[in-house]
Amino acid sequence: MSETLPPVIVGAGPAGIRAAERLVAAGLRPVVVDEAARWGGQIYRQPPDGGFTRPKKALYGFEAGKADAVHRAMAAIRDRVDYRPRTLVWNCEAGALDLLCDGASEALPFSHLILATGATDRVLPFPGWTLPGVFTLGGSQVALKFQGCAVGRRVAFLGTGPLLYLVAYQYLKAGVEVAGVFDTTPFAAQARATAGMLRDAATLAKGLLYVGWLRAHGVPIHNGVRPVRAEGAERVNALVWRDAQGQERRTSCDAVAFGLGLRSETQLADLAGCRFRFDEADRAWLPERDGAGRSSVPGVYLAGDGGGISGADAAELAGERAALALLEDLGRPMDGKRVKELDGRLSRIAAFRRSLSAAFPFPADWADAIADDTMICRCEGVTAGAVREVARSGQAREMNRAKALTRAGMGRCQGRMCSATTAELLSRTLGTSPDGVGRLRAQPPIKPLPVSAGAERREVA
Ligand SMILES: Cc1cc2nc3c(=O)[nH]c(=O)nc-3n(C[C@H](O)[C@H](O)[C@H](O)COP(=O)(O)OP(=O)(O)OC[C@H]3O[C@@H](n4cnc5c(N)ncnc54)[C@H](O)[C@@H]3O)c2cc1C
Repeated sequence: MSETLPPVIVGAGPAGIRAAERLVAAGLRPVVVDEAARWGGQIYRQPPDGGFTRPKKALYGFEAGKADAVHRAMAAIRDRVDYRPRTLVWNCEAGALDLLCDGASEALPFSHLILATGATDRVLPFPGWTLPGVFTLGGSQVALKFQGCAVGRRVAFLGTGPLLYLVAYQYLKAGVEVAGVFDTTPFAAQARATAGMLRDAATLAKGLLYVGWLRAHGVPIHNGVRPVRAEGAERVNALVWRDAQGQERRTSCDAVAFGLGLRSETQLADLAGCRFRFDEADRAWLPERDGAGRSSVPGVYLAGDGGGISGADAAELAGERAALALLEDLGRPMDGKRVKELDGRLSRIAAFRRSLSAAFPFPADWADAIADDTMICRCEGVTAGAVREVARSGQAREMNRAKALTRAGMGRCQGRMCSATTAELLSRTLGTSPDGVGRLRAQPPIKPLPVSAGAERREVA
């Protein structure tokens, strides 16, 4: 490995920014690449430049102070970083990334790479989920945070995880009518997990405040729910759901926001050659990383939600920790005291995270209720029945074979949206656990890009 190349960081969220800050403090000039136009990542996403101004308190609520600190950290090092906004990393090969910025391709060689690529929503479909007006939870929050608009006037929130209550609360605070919160978790599971969540009393208190605020404003909160269908012709006009007693009920609304937690963005780690393992807590295949963020590939580090869902506070700590590991691997002096402090804080967050998973378990039986004619891969128009059929007929016992036969995961999103569903359907039809069906291998380009970009790249090579 050469030290002549500057370290490269993919992602300017909390993890990437704190990693860059630490490398700059050590006298390096890292390259920071992010497809977003402004730094901040998902949680601290900034509205577009110009026109749309809202105070940080309104945009980030209780997290305004943290958002401001992360934004300022990047602003302070801006001149000492090779910052590349609006730049997609669409491929990673040994020692080089492929970038696309404003239609132009470029190959960026690296010797040391920190992947801080964050996460996206995890969804499982239900009948009617393709109707206009049905959004993911994260998508509906992006609309509010980034564009200052709501996805509907009367919105139903469905799914599980802390984001469910947070986004419902944010919508209510923004003046939108919340038709209800429909949580797939039985109330008893949340009550049981409360003791473990006391490890981080401040975060627990915030969660309880969101619930309390919603209730105080007359928002019905239902636990142990399963979706039946989203109804509507041109646009969704009702959510039909089954309550904890199995009774079918109907709630009128003009938008549904739904999500079942988050899934890590791991394609670049896969293309970089990192070894993966199945993680029970995330119910997903994740790139292996040690406590410092080192992957199985020398010179490649993983930080933040891209290596496993841990939240924004952990992302900041893990970003700095990965940068310290990188510096150590370059033979630079180590700040042992800081390493110890970061390791301690990260392990406390990991313990809290385990309680959070118990409080919002993945509704594994949801997949059984997906009707055969429900579309699961929107890019390629693949139904649940098609995936079940290749499993039942014995043609596919693992994900890549199912993809080859049905085209699920072969379209523009490259499985980022449908692979969780495909894994659940395959494994449940075959009677195995989700790790038993393996994982989709990442393929470049990991996101859509113009054909001309690929042609330019061949000229570079
Ligand atoms: C839509 C959404 C909303 C969320 N809202 C909240 C919230 O309100 N509160 C909360 O506590 N948690 C929220 N989370 C969870 C939150 O994202 C994380 O805990 C936190 O932001 C993780 O920080 P990070 O630095 O690991 O990743 P992120 O903040 O996600 O940053 C990753 C960055 O990497 C960039 N990136 C990824 N892939 C590429 C690529 N191939 N090329 C170039 N750039 C790339 C992205 O543009 C992004 O800026 C949200 C998650 C999502 C998906």
